[in-house]
Amino acid sequence: MDDLLTVEQLNIGFNQTQVIKDMSFGVKKGQLTSFLGPSGSGKTTVLRAIAGLNKHIKGHIRLAGHDITSLPPNQRNIGMIFQSYALFPNLTVADNVAYGLRVQRRPKAEIIKRVDHMLELTDMMTKKDAYPDELSGGQKQRVALARSMVLEPQLLLLDEPLSALDAKIRVELRNQIRRFQQELGITMIFVTHDQAEAMAISDDILIMNDGKIQQQGSATDIYERPRNMFIAKFIGNNN
Ligand code: ADP
Repeated sequence: MDDLLTVEQLNIGFNQTQVIKDMSFGVKKGQLTSFLGPSGSGKTTVLRAIAGLNKHIKGHIRLAGHDITSLPPNQRNIGMIFQSYALFPNLTVADNVAYGLRVQRRPKAEIIKRVDHMLELTDMMTKKDAYPDELSGGQKQRVALARSMVLEPQLLLLDEPLSALDAKIRVELRNQIRRFQQELGITMIFVTHDQAEAMAISDDILIMNDGKIQQQGSATDIYERPRNMFIAKFIGNNN
């Protein structure tokens, strides 16, 4: 299968400290790839570089064959979901989801159709006229997902999207994210420090430590053939 995203020799430093150390990897089209690693390993820094939120990087980032390294974030066709929901508090659920399409000045009938599709997919239709502060954490995150997915980004980045939720909702929402990803065929990168979470939902896992990739492969590859002691310990201990 083809890589949608390729990252070549990515180096990122803050002040004098090298935080990302010559990373190269690919992310396959239509798959869910997790960045897994302990806190401070560099996951968010790489994600922000892919989104275009850090200008001071060395290396190349290509999306569908185009070099996007110097493009501003809003020209990359990449969506991003954060741990905190960042919904517009003064807009209803439906208006939150419609927001980006309105900015793009899409025809009204198209907006209604696409928003309804997303509300159905994320099971938020009954809450379409509610405001964010009337929703549970899991519902807010489903609206955040709908708001990103409705724009049909080529790539959707999720930065620890479940970490503000309690355990039961976390498992439910991760299964829902996997279902949305497969039904829509979206390419997703999912950042987590939780190996059980990564193993449960990913096609491909990229394990990072200390700004370097330790191993990239499927959950089975990593379980059965850990490449070094770090991986063996991390997979063994962390749950
Ligand atoms: P992770 O997402 O895996 O927890 P991060 O990408 O957030 O890791 O951080 C990787 C390293 O980069 C950490 O040592 C962190 O302290 C450092 N770092 C991240 N952002 C900044 C910043 N804006 N300024 C200075 N150091 C940073």
